[in-house]
Amino acid sequence: MTTGKINVSVENIFPLIKKFLYSDHEIFLRELVSNATDATLKLKHLTSIGEAKVEYGNPIIEVKIDKEGKKLHIIDQGLGMTAEEVEKYINQIAFSGAEEFLEKYKDSAKDSGVIGHFGLGFYSAFMVASKVEIITKSYKDEPAAHWSCDGSPEFTLEPHDKTDRGTEIILHIAEDSLEFLEEYRIRELLTKYNKFMPVPIKFGTKKEALPKPEDAPEDYKTEYVDVDNIINNPTPAWTKQPSDLKEDDYKDFYRELYPMQFEEPLFNIHLNVDYPFNLTGILYFPKLDANLQVQKDKIQLYQNQVFVTDNVEGIVPEFLVMLRGVIDSPDIPLNVSRSYLQADGNVKKISNYITRKVADKLKSLFNENRQDFESKWNDIKIVLEYGMLSEPKFYEKAGDFVLYPSVDGKYYTLAELKEAISANQTDKNGKLVVLYASNKDAQHGYIEIAKEKGYEVLLLDSPIVSHLIQKLESDNENLTFVRVDSDHIDKLIQKEDTQISKLSEEETTKLKTVLEEIVPKTNYSVQLEPMDSTAAPFIITQPEFMRRMKEMSQTGGGMFGMGNFPEMYNLVVNTNSDLATTILTTEDKSVQESLVKQALDLAKISQGLLKGEELTAFVKRSFELIK
Ligand code: ADP
Ligand code: MG
Repeated sequence: MTTGKINVSVENIFPLIKKFLYSDHEIFLRELVSNATDATLKLKHLTSIGEAKVEYGNPIIEVKIDKEGKKLHIIDQGLGMTAEEVEKYINQIAFSGAEEFLEKYKDSAKDSGVIGHFGLGFYSAFMVASKVEIITKSYKDEPAAHWSCDGSPEFTLEPHDKTDRGTEIILHIAEDSLEFLEEYRIRELLTKYNKFMPVPIKFGTKKEALPKPEDAPEDYKTEYVDVDNIINNPTPAWTKQPSDLKEDDYKDFYRELYPMQFEEPLFNIHLNVDYPFNLTGILYFPKLDANLQVQKDKIQLYQNQVFVTDNVEGIVPEFLVMLRGVIDSPDIPLNVSRSYLQADGNVKKISNYITRKVADKLKSLFNENRQDFESKWNDIKIVLEYGMLSEPKFYEKAGDFVLYPSVDGKYYTLAELKEAISANQTDKNGKLVVLYASNKDAQHGYIEIAKEKGYEVLLLDSPIVSHLIQKLESDNENLTFVRVDSDHIDKLIQKEDTQISKLSEEETTKLKTVLEEIVPKTNYSVQLEPMDSTAAPFIITQPEFMRRMKEMSQTGGGMFGMGNFPEMYNLVVNTNSDLATTILTTEDKSVQESLVKQALDLAKISQGLLKGEELTAFVKRSFELIK
């Protein structure tokens, strides 16, 4: 039996590990199962290159709770360690055997999937254990070794009579960590961290029905047997080649990933790159709620099939965090506890790669089946519009597939739209005017008037659309967007021909005075316009600029403080309407007043502005008029 001191410079490193190194105690299991997996994968590699002349077989890893003994066992059938190797790999803290292995077998083992990295994982066991034992038998022809350490720097190392190859780690769970002796807790951890690890992991047994025999009697009762309960899928979809997967395989994997998610994803994007960094994964576009509630099913980050985190901030471009799926990359630089991303050039490259892949996929979906793409537009537009605003690289590509739907359900790309409306919607200054509505019902009257003129009206109704419009205008010379209710029709798109007013200048001034006396100045500015005599006599409009700035500042951005500006409207009165003449020529002041009020209320109704007390007064007044 040997005894000795663990080779560390700090006198007592264990309290340090326990307190500071890993903020999250539960990760000890991830680390130990990762080591067991590494031991198995290393053996696989050594047998495959003929360096280990043993039968590889079908090794599994077992996690076992001994509740009475207050012990947790992690048992593998991997390459094991000789006593000498225990000294080397275990007693030297911060020396990573995994890194050494990858270095030694540089050429052949780079795709072996070996996980270990910092040489600290094993010691995370002391976060939850008061004593740790290792019983290990190497694949080499040497006796097994038994290492034991109670958390002080002193350890013991002696021979052991274990004969089968592999390693058993025994954790004597500390009094403050007894939760890790509960079956549900261990199952929870295995499901969270190890669900897709590459070596089968057994946790207990489960009952499985035997197939019904051919000659089963009438009253045959299904028989059950105990079989290993394997908690992981060692070959998840993202580790396979896209060409080996069908549409249904992607959907099945989505369900495997999010068992509580019943909605099908809209489409998926298979990521697969090995230069200049290594990254695989599958991203899914989910059907998003309009209110974008805080999502619980997030993109999961893995390293060599070990779950690391579902905080992918920085790795995935911000506009894609609403997506779901997995990303697996050994090249994402994380700190020792793998909970923080370290600033690194690779990270930006990864994020750019993801942006590009998503854009390429959208483009090919658009090209392959435009109709299907259009049918999904409503569910994906927010993500794409947000991407255009936040990611210049995405914006550059967006022209190929971003759509602008009309109120009648026709979908245009920006180029198609420009082409379609240029003849009819270019104003006298050569500006191409895009008309849009944000709500088909609320702006119904305005939409109809525009359509009568043969104008195309878009339906742009996502919450950030004002920002997008602003950007499109600044990037496309001579393109301007106006909402249908932002002015009267002749002003929305100004053409050369001007309407002649029926009223003289003097009459117009008089009418304006009359109107301004009755219409509340605080909310409305009166604007007299000679329009078609059949057009509505009174309409309420809200100038595009003010409204857009208000909207932008409400959704973050725009001009500072604009969100708090009062609502200001224009009351546009058609001087060529019969009503305008009637108001002007009515001698009786009170009749004049009620005409104006009634007309104003009607205009308000078509803007959805008449409510409460005013609505009640309007209804009452209207009944008086028809009695
Ligand atoms: P890392 O995994 O980063 O190399 P760890 O502290 O997790 O560091 O483990 C240290 C070393 O101990 C491993 O590299 C490996 O050589 C050895 N080791 C740990 N667990 C096992 C095991 N179950 N079987 C064989 N070797 C192991
Ligand atoms: Mg490790």
